[in-house]
Amino acid sequence: MENNDFDFIRLASKPISKDEEIRLSKMFSRLSSQAAKNTKRDRCYYCEKICSSFCNSHSIPIFALERVAENGKIFSFLDKSLNPSKESRGIKNTGTFQIICNDCDSKIFQDYENPDGYNSLPSDAILSQIALKNYLQLIWKRVNENELYRILKTQYNSSVAEEKLFWGEIDLDFYSKEYIYAKKSLEKNDNSYYLCFFKHLDYVIPYAAQAAITLVGDLEDNLINDLYKTDINSKTSCIHVMALPLKETSVVLAFIKNGDKRYRKFYKQLQKLSLDDQLSTINYILFSNSENIFVNPTVAKTLVDDDVFQDVCKITADYTTDIFNCNASPIKQAIKEFSLSKRTLIPNLLAKEYSL
Ligand SMILES: [Zn+2]
Repeated sequence: MENNDFDFIRLASKPISKDEEIRLSKMFSRLSSQAAKNTKRDRCYYCEKICSSFCNSHSIPIFALERVAENGKIFSFLDKSLNPSKESRGIKNTGTFQIICNDCDSKIFQDYENPDGYNSLPSDAILSQIALKNYLQLIWKRVNENELYRILKTQYNSSVAEEKLFWGEIDLDFYSKEYIYAKKSLEKNDNSYYLCFFKHLDYVIPYAAQAAITLVGDLEDNLINDLYKTDINSKTSCIHVMALPLKETSVVLAFIKNGDKRYRKFYKQLQKLSLDDQLSTINYILFSNSENIFVNPTVAKTLVDDDVFQDVCKITADYTTDIFNCNASPIKQAIKEFSLSKRTLIPNLLAKEYSL
């Protein structure tokens, strides 16, 4: 290795030449396969039974992916990950993860996978299943990423990977606790989540998205979550956000854990906005915070050259960015970076004018 401190992670988040992109992409594939091999499980994460073949679970209800696809292809903005992808892909292997058995996958998510369940206010079971899906995917992803950083740390002596691993372990601990909460909620069906935003739209939105998001600030840039605290008990809490195209309509919703006061100010501010502005806010939150978004390919083509939009998709709060390396307090910088006041700078794809 030429570099003592292997800067692959930092490079991947900056503009790079085509040759460099190919080289990094090859290296990424090789190291990812090694990480996947090292983290291969032998038990289902949900039922804990021995499992030799895991379900190829989707991180979004399949009916929604099918609704936005064209010729079976959808577009994903995976620029936040280490392996940028700008191609439309087949539904079958897009946004998938393998951590539970086929039996559990077909049993746990029955309400969630039924489009009729979203025509009116979603049931407690659906909310629990959305949360469960979000955390299962995050856990799967974090386990693999952490292993990748472990490899980079040991093989290449990378201090960036060491930082990433440190925070990755904290995240994993947090996701695991939240997963247990969601699982208990589903098993007891006991109204453990509070639906703080729900809109039924009379048109089909051009993307499907769902994510557990740690929102940094509210609509007035007041702090919601200090991302840089290491104490897990006081650390953060998530808001689950979903934008779901149905057959001829769509729903957009957000919910939190019952009794979670952190988001109260935010959702009260949100509720006061006009519908257009509410959707613009949710749209911005999704694209600036999540990569679990799958867009209709024709609509996506209009965004690929939109530099402002692309920059919004790339905002990250982690320790390899300028947020942490500037002289100001990182959390103040993060609030600025993620500020919801920027919501009008990108096209509001949840507005009727973009409907399918
Ligand atoms: Zn299972």
